Amino acid sequence: MILESFPVGVLGCNCTLLGDEAAGEALVIDPGDEVGRIARRLSELGLRLKQILITHAHIDHVGGALKLKRLTGAPILMNQADLPLLRMMDQQAAWLGTEAPEVEPPDESLADGLVVGLGAYPAQVLHTPGHSAGSVCLYFKPLDLLIAGDTLFAGSIGRTDLPGGSYAQLMESIRTRLLPLPDQTRVISGHGPETTIGRERVANQFLRELH
Ligand SMILES: [Zn+2]
Repeated sequence: MILESFPVGVLGCNCTLLGDEAAGEALVIDPGDEVGRIARRLSELGLRLKQILITHAHIDHVGGALKLKRLTGAPILMNQADLPLLRMMDQQAAWLGTEAPEVEPPDESLADGLVVGLGAYPAQVLHTPGHSAGSVCLYFKPLDLLIAGDTLFAGSIGRTDLPGGSYAQLMESIRTRLLPLPDQTRVISGHGPETTIGRERVANQFLRELH
């Protein structure tokens, strides 16, 4: 198994590459920027990209998706509740003072319960609205791994003041979808360092009110 996570773009969105050497396949989650570097890494590893998975449609997570799709032919999957955010890409770019990337609607919606990923490494889609209406987490149960997007961070939670955000929904998503996961679940968040569900359960002060 190949699992690499590295920050891309000015906001340092953690882009994750998961590969299965035996099958020669990979998936990429949140190629927000630096698509050339991501594509180069895939070819260095000799992996064919099967899916581009988007945790939510903020520019720093989805910005490079269409470029990567055009380079590799891989489909883009994103929850459809974030389509309004995708249509606001010019506005999102203006918030950052950058140029808007070209975007297109996803090839398929990351609907709750859908199983995506690679044959050897399947992931269940957990719809976790709150940071945005279409935010999802990807739970690779056989790997004890959660890709959390901007829903949960080490010691923090996602902001809820952007369009489609809701603090009440975010807390409900974390309570009902993430905290039931086993303590040993490794969490790769959308920004910053890795953590585990167990560590956040005891040490994340934003989650105190959920106990
Ligand atoms: Zn975000």
